[in-house]
Amino acid sequence: MAIVVKIGGAPGNTVAALAEELVDRPDCVLVHGGSAEVDRISAALGIAPEYYTSPSGVVSRRSDARHLEAVVLGLAGRVQTDLVATLGARGVRAIGLSGVDGRLILARKKTGARARVGEKVVHLPDELAGAVERVDGDLLRWMLAGQILPVVGPPAVTETGEIVNVDADQVAAGVATAIGATELVLLTNVPGLLRAPGDPASVVPRVAPAEVDAVLPLASGRMRKKLLAARQAVATGVGRAIIAPSSVDRPIAAALAGHGTVIA
Ligand code: ADP
Repeated sequence: MAIVVKIGGAPGNTVAALAEELVDRPDCVLVHGGSAEVDRISAALGIAPEYYTSPSGVVSRRSDARHLEAVVLGLAGRVQTDLVATLGARGVRAIGLSGVDGRLILARKKTGARARVGEKVVHLPDELAGAVERVDGDLLRWMLAGQILPVVGPPAVTETGEIVNVDADQVAAGVATAIGATELVLLTNVPGLLRAPGDPASVVPRVAPAEVDAVLPLASGRMRKKLLAARQAVATGVGRAIIAPSSVDRPIAAALAGHGTVIA
């Protein structure tokens, strides 16, 4: 029985405690984001990062060909390589895979990306963003059986070989479904879904999948994506999803003990 742990990449996420815990967790697939690092690489390349909000209120990173370069360099290049090195130094045999490696994550290119600009809605026909369609669970299970910790992150690839950006929380949900994970742990820089953003004591402890729509208005930005990914994972066979903090001792055990927001 395996679990999937996703570590966020926004400022305030910490990796050290997680890496330490993964030494004794041969049952994990690690998924990563890396938004701060992509922003940094983007700026270093002289391409200011941009974000847009869809008509339904979901915030996404602009991923046209120019910006996608920073996504690939930042996530598959820097964040993943650093995670594998950190784990390796602790004796964990980790192997990093983007969705392109072995066509691990097949995505369908989104052709209808739209952004709300003031009162208007504009089309973004040059977006190279995708929705996760299929994850090769056999490859991941095979690695786990060989005592290898897979470290997985965006980008993904389309059937025709185009590299596309995909949401890391959606990758985590897709991986959890594909390997039949019992749990999906989404570690982030807040204690869970907060009823009052900024007040760590206002964590919503439990949300049934049918209640996700009702709590969505509490969440802005990328917390919305976490709730949607959590609901999707549970709807496709994962026992429960937990949104929990990365910056605590033994963050996986703490999340599994219910410290965070449990979606089940
Ligand atoms: P990560 O990189 O860890 O995946 P994100 O930045 O993508 O983190 O998502 C977590 C962020 O979501 C929080 O830092 C917070 O700013 C934001 N957020 C918006 N609404 C809420 C809410 N109701 N409760 C908690 N966090 C929220």
